[in-house]
Parts: sequence; structure tokens; C-alpha cells
Amino acid sequence: MVTVRFVGSGDSFGSGGRFQTCILVDGPTTRFAIDFGASSLIALAQQGIEPNSIDAILLTHLHGDHCGGVPFLILDAMLAAKRERPLTIAGPAGTKAHLDTLREALFPGSRVMTPTFPLTYSEMTLGVANRVLDLVVTPQPARHVAETNPTAVRIEVGDRVVAYTGDTEWTGDVAKVAFGADLLIAECYFYAKPIRWHLTYPAIAEHVRHGGAKRVILTHMSGEMLAHRGDVPEECAEDGMVVEV
Ligand SMILES: [Zn+2]
Ligand SMILES: [Zn+2]
Repeated sequence: MVTVRFVGSGDSFGSGGRFQTCILVDGPTTRFAIDFGASSLIALAQQGIEPNSIDAILLTHLHGDHCGGVPFLILDAMLAAKRERPLTIAGPAGTKAHLDTLREALFPGSRVMTPTFPLTYSEMTLGVANRVLDLVVTPQPARHVAETNPTAVRIEVGDRVVAYTGDTEWTGDVAKVAFGADLLIAECYFYAKPIRWHLTYPAIAEHVRHGGAKRVILTHMSGEMLAHRGDVPEECAEDGMVVEV
């Protein structure tokens, strides 16, 4: 059995008072977070989760609401939390350089600090199975802002498959990620307003609902979508919501 906690189910801009994307998954042997937005360390603290308990972070793309919390996590691990446990950060091409730049921008001078715990970066190859600890992660290209190296991810954890769209429009590649998954976490940014680079509710109704995943949970909702939560049959994430897959 796999446990999935929506530590952060919000969009970029704090809609509904929600934290930015951070999805914590407990597999048989590995605890990992899918995405780690700028507010994630605060969200973990509010929910009583020890950041040092996380073995790996899987990043879908390089927008701040999905990766901006990593510099805070690393600085905390070095300075306050006295982390000893190894940490693996896996993401799309350019992940390490982007996070190094981001850390120095947020904490000037921090580049001279060397983690005292084993910190490993892994830049995953698109379209194939990548091993990250005991997980098998298959990222597919997503249709989102190109400079973020966007991906949707399919994660084999224990005997379950957890899939996550990241931020993207619906494409054949996203369909591959979703098909047959025990849980598909789908962003659903707007209910009626058409918007580029994201999934909106009409696409959920047309594709995601029939995309072959055994269960679908919507996340990354704008205020406009949050106002329509009661109008859709799909499950909608909440900060702190825990589901078993
Ligand atoms: Zn994005
Ligand atoms: Zn986003």
C-alpha cells in the first residue's frame, strides 16, 4: 500500500489560502515528495512532518511553485535541521544548475556552503524508465512553458503506479503517463476559462476522466476552479488530505 498526502494543493498565487504544490508519498521503503513549491517547508511544519524524513524529491518542472522550496529545504537541512540522511533530488534536464542559481539568488553567499549530508542530483531522461532509489520514474514531455523543461511523471512505487500531470495541457504523452495508473493526480487550473499551458475542467471532463486511470484527484486549482469544486464529480485535493492507493 502507498500513502499519498497533499501537503500543498494550491496554485502559484495562494488561491484559497493553499500551499504550493507538494505531494508526499510513502512507499514500502521510500518517502518522497513530488514537487516542492516555495511554501513547502512551511506546509510540512504546519502538518507536523519532519523534512529530514524525506528521502527524495521528484520535480516535474522548474517553476517556483513546483521547485522553489528546495533551496529553503537544503539551507534548513544544513543549518537548523542538522540533516544526516541522504537526499536525492531528481528532475528534468537543467535541474541542478537551476536550483544552484535559485539558492544563490534567495540566499546570496550560500554557494560556499557544502552539505554535510549526501546530496545527489539526478536529471531524468524523457520517455524512459529512470531509477530513483527504489522508484521507477518515467517522465514524459509536457505542454507547458518550455523554459521550465516541463514533464508529466509516472511513478512506480512498490506495486502501485502514481501519475501526476504536473502543469500541462492534455497531450498524447500525458495520456501515456495516466493510462492504467492506480492514482492520477491532475492539475485543474480553471473551470471554464480557457488558458494556455494548463489543464482546465473541460479537458478533465473530455480526456482525464476517460484516460484509463483507476482514480483521479484534481489539484492546483485557481479561485475560479475552487468555487466550482461542488459542481464536479471528481475528487478534489485539500491541503493535508491523505489517501491510500
Ligand atoms: Zn508551471
Ligand atoms: Zn504550477
